Amino acid sequence: MTPDTNNATCRAIVVTPGVASSERLATVAREMPKTGQVDLHVLEVGICGTDIEIASGSYGQPPLGHQDLVPGHESLAIIDCLGPGVQGLSVGQLVVPIVRRPCPELCAACASGRWDLCLTGNYQEHGIKGLDGFLREFAVVDANALVSIPNTLRPVAVLVEPLTIVEKAIEEAEMAYPRRWAQPHTALVTGAGPVGILAALLLRQRGLDVSVLDQRPADSPKAQLVQRAGIQYIDDQKTPLEKVVPAAGFDVVVEATGYSPLLFRAARSLGRNGVLVLTGVTSGHHDITVDSDVLNVSLVLENQTIVGSVNAARHHYLAAVADLADWSDRWPGLTEQLITARHPLDQFMDAYQKSPDAVKSVIVMAPRGAQ
Ligand SMILES: [Zn+2]
Ligand SMILES: [Zn+2]
Repeated sequence: MTPDTNNATCRAIVVTPGVASSERLATVAREMPKTGQVDLHVLEVGICGTDIEIASGSYGQPPLGHQDLVPGHESLAIIDCLGPGVQGLSVGQLVVPIVRRPCPELCAACASGRWDLCLTGNYQEHGIKGLDGFLREFAVVDANALVSIPNTLRPVAVLVEPLTIVEKAIEEAEMAYPRRWAQPHTALVTGAGPVGILAALLLRQRGLDVSVLDQRPADSPKAQLVQRAGIQYIDDQKTPLEKVVPAAGFDVVVEATGYSPLLFRAARSLGRNGVLVLTGVTSGHHDITVDSDVLNVSLVLENQTIVGSVNAARHHYLAAVADLADWSDRWPGLTEQLITARHPLDQFMDAYQKSPDAVKSVIVMAPRGAQ
């Protein structure tokens, strides 16, 4: 419904960036969509490591002139009303908003729709950097930042945004691998968190022989989930990675823990022309000893690549939507299992708690039937 009074409000989570444990439930003013904007009724928001870092006070930037930020960037919403001049979208349509918006200078990358490669660094991100996010019942966004979602994907579409991160990471790996002459056959994913599991499923869908490394036992829910998709699970505490690397090494390695010492072990597991994509970061300092000569020799003589990857462009969102639909047919019920908990908005703190067997915790903003 259009917010028809100037003092309409809705419930939201707010944080004060830089202040630890400042996240709280609040009442915020609803906005009116301006020309080219739409008002969204947010349905679900997924919580990830970035949200936890923002809540810890170590990350995040409020909108200009504000002290507080509404977090939440992994969302699924329904269009509640259209602002003036919006075409090609309709009220009631299911959508996922794109997180990053182009920099105000509109650099060459942003102007080409590759805000994920922004040259100035002045981009904005909903719920992270300079723009409010989606942990609010209603949110106004630019209509050109929306991706349509088929109704059949409603149960899992909150996973679209984290999957876009993986779509880009795998694209980076594919670009670096000499695919003109050979296709990658083997892949390793380090970390069975949401990004790791999504990466493993995407690589498996593409026909690779995939192994996932984590520190949970082989009968833990995450291990069983990946094994259902024909992915090999390695418990690093029982069988160290170094013992299971194929003789020729892995063609593709996706590092999804953000635990930086692991990147050296991951790099050592690469085969000839192998590509290691780094997708995670953790704050802190880890001093370790590495044989830098061995790493250097291997990277040079085996023609290996290490690449970092963050964020995603529109075509990664479209790929994520198509791939989630493919997975529903390929592995019925499996993607639903990635959402291990759904919490109501007034119990949002539960979604911020990390548990070793949880994959993706989601905050339900608008329960089914209340839309
Ligand atoms: Zn995220
Ligand atoms: Zn830019």
